[in-house]
Amino acid sequence: KLKKSLGQNFLIDQNVLNKIVGAAELDATKGALEIGPGIGALTQQLAKRAGRVVAIEIDQRLLPILEETLAPFPNASVVHGDVLEVDLGALFAEHFAGVSGVSVVANLPYYITTPIIMKLLQQKLPLENIVVMIQKEVAERMAAKPGGKDYGSLSIAVQYYCDPELVTIVPHTVFIPQPNVDSAVIRLKVRREAPVRTDDEAFFFDVVQASFVQRRKTIYNNLAARYFSKETKEQLGEVLASCGIDPSRRAETLGMDEFAALADALRRHLAVNG
Ligand code: SAM
Repeated sequence: KLKKSLGQNFLIDQNVLNKIVGAAELDATKGALEIGPGIGALTQQLAKRAGRVVAIEIDQRLLPILEETLAPFPNASVVHGDVLEVDLGALFAEHFAGVSGVSVVANLPYYITTPIIMKLLQQKLPLENIVVMIQKEVAERMAAKPGGKDYGSLSIAVQYYCDPELVTIVPHTVFIPQPNVDSAVIRLKVRREAPVRTDDEAFFFDVVQASFVQRRKTIYNNLAARYFSKETKEQLGEVLASCGIDPSRRAETLGMDEFAALADALRRHLAVNG
């Protein structure tokens, strides 16, 4: 019996499985980390291409099935646990020491897509690609450029660490049971270096997040609410002017380079003026 609460929608289409595996650019020197192997359909394909495959599965009932489906593949192993709790650094050291690069490849449990992606990115694991099946709307938000309703703090977080590329849109008919949302496969090519420079990464992400708290409000109003008091908020006008940013703009119009300049200017200002 499948568990809806664990996002158990299993892929049954060989074409889609091939597309996912193909996008990961694996070979016998590479490792693949799968999150949520289910009954092992994708895991088997990964084990045929990659040198080493590790799959993290939370549902204990699937373990005996996985043992069977993966029996022909000694290069694949299953770790029982919650991906959000597992120590990935230790897992990499234990399982991927001998490979030339690791990619994450998964048909993700949709209810925790963003926390999983953020965990993978923020831990700065030595990843090459993250190829994941996710909800179509989330894929669009990850890949969005400034200027539209899809662009927000998720777009900036993902694009700071990765270069996103939509691989394919997937109809819900290729799953059992069928989810009630459309899906997409996205490839996030992990960057060697961030595309913008900032003095303080954590503060940069804080400013981005604050800027989008109320999407329909101006950048001025959102940042004033977070970092200034009634008495001091006029100073925000000067900070914005020093970056050439019109205070009446909305966050969704700002590029990552503008957010980086703004975060650095705001940080310097707050350091001096409390
Ligand atoms: N890979 C399989 C496929 O493509 O058919 C199954 C994908 S299914 C969308 C998601 C899988 O993630 C399920 O097997 C589910 O039990 C597992 N899962 C859900 N939450 C998890 C968590 N926190 N940690 C690890 N696995 C999880």
